[in-house]
Amino acid sequence: MTYWFIFSDRQLLLASDGGKQSIPLADAMPLPVAEGTIVHDVGTIDGHDCKAYCTTCDDLGGLERCDLRASYFKLDKRMYDKAGAARELVHWDLTSRYCPACGTQTRRTQRIGKVCPACGHELFPSISPAIIVLIERGDAVLMVHARNFRGTFRGLIAGYVEPGESLEDCLRREVMEETGLTIKNVKYFGSQPWPYPSVIMVGFTAEYESGELRLQEEELDAGRFFTIDTLPELPQKLSLARRLIDWWIGKQGKTAKQE
Ligand SMILES: [Zn+2]
Repeated sequence: MTYWFIFSDRQLLLASDGGKQSIPLADAMPLPVAEGTIVHDVGTIDGHDCKAYCTTCDDLGGLERCDLRASYFKLDKRMYDKAGAARELVHWDLTSRYCPACGTQTRRTQRIGKVCPACGHELFPSISPAIIVLIERGDAVLMVHARNFRGTFRGLIAGYVEPGESLEDCLRREVMEETGLTIKNVKYFGSQPWPYPSVIMVGFTAEYESGELRLQEEELDAGRFFTIDTLPELPQKLSLARRLIDWWIGKQGKTAKQE
């Protein structure tokens, strides 16, 4: 049997059995594939092939739409991660049907590659790198609220890498632009695919070096250094931001009280 990662209106479709939700597991494809789109192979889980596609069916045959972020709290981590990979491939397929150089319909030439038959332009999934950094100052940590956050929680300084930048250049530029601070002792922490729609988040820790905190108002509407006893609402567990913050909380000899 195959695990079917199906997307409808950008949302993941889940089977529901007595309140427990799961990725549909079946021999046959549960719903028709949207015209002109591809069924993608996304590896295996527990010996079952995993396939991903999008559908335009109105009748979902009993499957339920679920926002990919929300699916983190309904699926186990392996299924959520696979759903993220599936979402990135489906997004790439939908946005690469026509050549961006000349407008001709593209042709698939390999598992994740297409070519324009008219001008030869090749298309592969493009993944945007972004940095995120936890900045410590003494016994406090910088947490901010960006205007584009979906909620009232406080997160970390983050931003997209620009052409020609190293991750370290990007980090220093983003921190300076958004806070006016310089940082030192930058250390790599870890990375995480962020399929909203196709980002790889690269996490770092750093220490405050100099400068007066001055928030960039176009991007941030709140932010300051917080000590362990004054922590604000934290980001949800699915994010690398939260992993960084939980690491910092652990370093203070505590565990996060929030879910
Ligand atoms: Zn072309």
